[in-house]
Amino acid sequence: LVQAVGVVKKFGDTTVLHEVSMDVQPGQVVCLLGPSGAGKSTFLRCVNHLETVDAGQIWVDGEPIGYRVRNGKLHELREREVARQRRGIGMVFQRFNLFPHRTALQNVIEGPVQVNRRGYGEAREKAMALLDRVGLADKAGSFPGQLSGGQQQRVAIARALAMEPKLMLFDEPTSALDPELVGEVLDVMVGLAGDGMTMIVVTHEIGFARQVADDVVFMVDGAVVETGPPSQVIDDPRHRRTRQFLAKVL
Ligand code: ATP
Ligand code: MG
Repeated sequence: LVQAVGVVKKFGDTTVLHEVSMDVQPGQVVCLLGPSGAGKSTFLRCVNHLETVDAGQIWVDGEPIGYRVRNGKLHELREREVARQRRGIGMVFQRFNLFPHRTALQNVIEGPVQVNRRGYGEAREKAMALLDRVGLADKAGSFPGQLSGGQQQRVAIARALAMEPKLMLFDEPTSALDPELVGEVLDVMVGLAGDGMTMIVVTHEIGFARQVADDVVFMVDGAVVETGPPSQVIDDPRHRRTRQFLAKVL
């Protein structure tokens, strides 16, 4: 479903992604690990074209992201078309960024009604089902400020799912949470993975990665150091950098 091929990203003179390649099959979960500054967030932002790449390509569901193929050549898409591609990709960040003056339910309904032009009744019913799925049916009428960080993050996940994405990107979704709230968010993500959602997850939660990842990608300084199933990359890493990193986070 996602194929990144030789992705290079520069900010000015600094190259922050050095030919990063990655392959995510439909229904797979890929966890992206690596120290601060490795380029994990930048890579995720390239996948939904919040950043443009300087070389290489990223294909999502058969389309090069940000481009269309015509006569064998890539042509840049207009903003409208990029927005269409992006609608198929849900993103959840470290900070929950919900609309503060809207209830949990209104936050989840917003996208389907405003962007996907769904009828209000249908969107509402679906939003309630999603809130139920993340364990928050009873908080539908609460405002973000009345919810814990873990609850807010679960609303953010429900909001992303409301757009019926084929791919979910998570950028350290639990790292801003108090430790006792991490589990409830990870549980929702484990459930999603079990339902067959395709996900790329940047995380320092090694237990989660070991439990649900099909592949773990370990990055340092903008380059992929090691890729493989958790049983290899986490439990039997080949590279010194991977071992050093794991020794710190485990
Ligand atoms: P962390 O674990 O701290 O979130 P990360 O692996 O997500 O780190 P990135 O945020 O992708 O790392 O950053 C990779 C490199 O790119 C860093 O050196 C960062 O300073 C640089 N960088 C990121 N965004 C920009 C930007 N908009 N302009 C210039 N440099 C940037
Ligand atoms: Mg980051």
